[in-house]
Amino acid sequence: MDLGSRLADIDARISDAARSAGRDATTITRIVVTKFHPVELVQDLADLGVTDVGENRQQELSSKRETYAGRPLRWHFIGQAQTNKARAVRRDADAVHSLDRARLADSLHTARREDDESDILDVLIQVNLTDDPGRGGVEPSGIVELAEHVAASCPSLRLRGVMAVAPLDEEPAPAFARLADYAGLVRGVVPDAEWISAGMTGDFAEAIAAGATHLRIGSAITGPRPVHG
Ligand SMILES: *Cc1c(COP(=O)(O)O)cnc(C)c1O
Repeated sequence: MDLGSRLADIDARISDAARSAGRDATTITRIVVTKFHPVELVQDLADLGVTDVGENRQQELSSKRETYAGRPLRWHFIGQAQTNKARAVRRDADAVHSLDRARLADSLHTARREDDESDILDVLIQVNLTDDPGRGGVEPSGIVELAEHVAASCPSLRLRGVMAVAPLDEEPAPAFARLADYAGLVRGVVPDAEWISAGMTGDFAEAIAAGATHLRIGSAITGPRPVHG
């Protein structure tokens, strides 16, 4: 199958999963994760009508975005962000899905264009659905505090919701059900923070059933990722 066929196939499966869940597929944003792939892939995807792309490393995000400056693409940053990369992440991402600590929120806020009040960055709190701190994301017990911090101290950040990656050692459905509860905690702080970023190649149907609004799908659309160093 070529790229266009794989994209069409995934979109059909997204529509099916939405229908089974009694949801309207047009309320679901399909982000194509292009990490590690050559920059030309983004052009091919854009030619197929893709509008939302995801990257997990700042340098790759920045160089790809620069290549397609002027293209109507939305760039989603989905990787662990070092605080010292916050300025570049803010400049080159339209949304940051991986906010996991107050210090990162502060750094992203500080990197705003101070002369431009319309410079607002969409952020999602990444939640760790496992007991392993190495998997990334804030512990569930820290969600409300982080949401309150963003709402109170970072006016140039717009808190949109939650993001998570399913655990490796658990079925995705119960994990995504917990994520939906955590999304409710965030809405308790910021009522219109309605995004739920969940679902990858192997589990997007379960994520849709659990209410995901943003899917981050890589290899099922792009093919296997090139080996990277
Ligand atoms: C790589 C990545 C994806 C996409 O993974 P696939 O299994 O290739 O669909 C989604 N989310 C995050 C955070 C990733 O790092």
